[in-house]
Amino acid sequence: MSNNISVSDSSTIDAEVTAQHTPMMRQYFALKAQHPDMLLFYRMGDFYELFFEDAEKASKLLGITLTRRGASNGEPIKMAGVPYHAAEQYLAKLTKLGEAVAICEQIGNPATSKGPVERAVTRILTPGTLTDSALLDETRDNQLLSVFAGDGLHGPNLIGLARINLASGSFILSEIATGQLAQELQRINPAEIICTDDFKHNALESFDCAKKRLSPWQFDADSAFKTLTAQFNTLDLTGFGAQQLTAALCAAGALLDYVKHTQRAALPHISALSVEQTSQYIQLDAATRRNLEIDVTLRGDASPTLYSLLNTTQTAMGARLLRYWLHHPLRDRSLVAKRHEAVAELGQTSKYQSLQTTLKLIGDIERITTRVALKTARPRDLSGLRESLLQLPLLQNLLVSRKAILLETLGANLQAPSEVLNILKAIKPEPASVLREGGVIADGYDVELDELRASQTNHGDFLLQFEAAEKARTGLQNLKVEYNSVHGFYIEISRAQAENAPAEYRRRQTLKNAERFITPELKAFEDKVLSANDRALAREKMLYEQVLNALNPFITALQTNSGAVASLDVLCCFAERAQALNYVQPQFVSEAGIVIEAGRHAVVESITQPFVANDVEMNPYRQLLLITGPNMGGKSTFMRQVALIVLLAHCGAFVPANVVKIGEIDRIFTRIGASDDFAGGRSTFMVEMTETANILHNATDKSLVLLDEIGRGTSTFDGLSLAWAVAKQLLEKNKSFTLFATHYFELTRIVDEFKHAANVHLDAVEHGNKIVFLHKVEAGAAHMSYGIQVAQLAGIPKSVVATAKRKLAQLENNQLSQNHNQPDMFTTNLGPEPTPQHPVIAELEAIQPDDLTPKQALELLYQLQSLLK
Ligand code: ADP
Repeated sequence: MSNNISVSDSSTIDAEVTAQHTPMMRQYFALKAQHPDMLLFYRMGDFYELFFEDAEKASKLLGITLTRRGASNGEPIKMAGVPYHAAEQYLAKLTKLGEAVAICEQIGNPATSKGPVERAVTRILTPGTLTDSALLDETRDNQLLSVFAGDGLHGPNLIGLARINLASGSFILSEIATGQLAQELQRINPAEIICTDDFKHNALESFDCAKKRLSPWQFDADSAFKTLTAQFNTLDLTGFGAQQLTAALCAAGALLDYVKHTQRAALPHISALSVEQTSQYIQLDAATRRNLEIDVTLRGDASPTLYSLLNTTQTAMGARLLRYWLHHPLRDRSLVAKRHEAVAELGQTSKYQSLQTTLKLIGDIERITTRVALKTARPRDLSGLRESLLQLPLLQNLLVSRKAILLETLGANLQAPSEVLNILKAIKPEPASVLREGGVIADGYDVELDELRASQTNHGDFLLQFEAAEKARTGLQNLKVEYNSVHGFYIEISRAQAENAPAEYRRRQTLKNAERFITPELKAFEDKVLSANDRALAREKMLYEQVLNALNPFITALQTNSGAVASLDVLCCFAERAQALNYVQPQFVSEAGIVIEAGRHAVVESITQPFVANDVEMNPYRQLLLITGPNMGGKSTFMRQVALIVLLAHCGAFVPANVVKIGEIDRIFTRIGASDDFAGGRSTFMVEMTETANILHNATDKSLVLLDEIGRGTSTFDGLSLAWAVAKQLLEKNKSFTLFATHYFELTRIVDEFKHAANVHLDAVEHGNKIVFLHKVEAGAAHMSYGIQVAQLAGIPKSVVATAKRKLAQLENNQLSQNHNQPDMFTTNLGPEPTPQHPVIAELEAIQPDDLTPKQALELLYQLQSLLK
């Protein structure tokens, strides 16, 4: 922005400053001042223009040319623009980058206005408040989350959360402890977060999405109460069970105001709120969501993941619900069992196939309904809605006499409101894509529109008669009467004869070989046709608005329909996958524990053939399985497959195994692999320990805990001791079902002290110089680690491998002789850390390789060698 113009913080412009600008620029500044922190798309003819800093920013972000447009107040005006008809692709790009955009349209009539045409901001787009199909990923919910720290139902100093999925109308409140924020952000995965400008929290800072900070007064409790009761038209919020969730209500009030502000419209599709208890779901902490690669791989790709493997849904609504279900395994096993029952029935005789064929024809009823509610639905949304609703009775027929209770309920919820189909008769079978040019309202729907349209199309007769009469009158035989959209109606005469045109012919256009003329009579006719055209367009617009208004009372019914389609779609998808991938129905049992016969890792088996299936048995007498075996042996695959089977079972899906029996499970924790949290400023080891601390604090006797290579990030003895202590705590205090993979063989002795721990191992065999991993989980501890062989596989030079083998033999000999003299550190309580015997080892441990120059390192090597001698 040029230096002397301040538009940053006030809605009124300094009169003296603005007086020096052109009227149009004054209008621009006034609008910009109301939207200082967003890009203002200012409509000028067929373009949206951006000015000053906005122009510079947009030109960088969008790669569009930065130009200048005259000067205002003596300064050149920087400008960048995008064509109106292609604006969507640019808006999509900006919102993806986390930018907010205010769209300013011409609302006055350019023909009658003095000075600049009246303009107003008609829409605000922010990453979390999108509803346009072109701007949204159709397989992903777009959530806007509001976060507020305060007192609530469950105590003081907690965090109230409220989230709206504007495209579906869902509005959900919850309260969480401050420490749970990171986990909840991962679960909800919002596109945008709003909070007070003084709210500080590590989890918020390190979560990557658009953030909007508002003044604390916007989260005021009293105003929130008023906003919410007005929205739902209720006296209080008791009916929603939300009355005492003060912190969440403050968040909700600010959220609703923010959404209204961006949409500039009533939000009739947000008709209720629900309170979510995190205890409804099997809890997955942030690390677990990542480690299990539910819909994003650890590298950040969309495939191969559980979601990419399982998604054979046929509708966008189904795809979104599948993603949601996979992230929200239910604790209420009776609800999940209903899903299993439905999947089983759909799988019998491949019933899902005909359902999927019909589902494929159904559009995004959920998002179209929202656009209907917001009055932004386009003509093809409505024709699409009609086509989709016509499929619902077919689905219902296919569900008739299904026994599963859930299928029966869905059948009932698929009942489309017949009035809606009636109302939609107003729309042409294949309407134009935009209302602007007409061609949307069906013929025969409105008498007046039909007449206006007829007067446009029946002009053929008039023109033929007119042409014949003019030919006769002027004697010019090659005279033609024609029409084009640029020049309107005209009489065309060849150049040779043009001189003979009568005096009342007025020249309209000169071509190379012809002249075009107009006469007063033809002009009068043209005016009549054009005004009929204008009136027809205006009439279509009015009728279209009527249609949208008439649909308004059916928003809730349509939301019910779309919910049922989505659920049916996911259930069919589960049935199809179960058959295609040979999954079985899991059983929920009352005994604590997990029994899996011939379990497989859903994703790994889809890319690695043949996959070796493995059994698992865990119960209170076999609570911790200590898994040893070579690197690459399949330890983490085995652990993850247990977690994935438990997760899938609680989503309602069938599972990759022969038999699965699961007792009650409340949470799944994983501590797998090394990852630095650079954004949060924590080292690998720190991340590992923080995640482990979280597990030790929160895991219960109903939790499934996966620990991979605990203690790896520190020195051997530190790490080993930590690993031992963690295992001990999990066995004694948490009593969780634990899979514990480790490379510390010393840890296998834990079974001597704890009878409810057991050793299992994976093996490999050497074939000449090669090593073959068996991937089979067997009882007992591993006896070799094959680290050197794996290094060889990885391409470590032969000479290094040979040296390592010699060194290993030497170390093992040393170890044997030491063990004769040393008490075992893990058979009883932890004793003092044994001191290394050979001086070389002490030297080696003291080395800080990063602090050495190459020369020092070489010298050290000579020194060490001399110590050996
Ligand atoms: P570890 O954790 O022991 O280092 P991983 O679990 O990462 O080993 O497994 C290494 C690779 O071995 C996997 O990427 C997969 O290709 C293969 N693998 C693991 N388990 C199996 C199995 N049960 N059947 C077939 N291949 C497997």
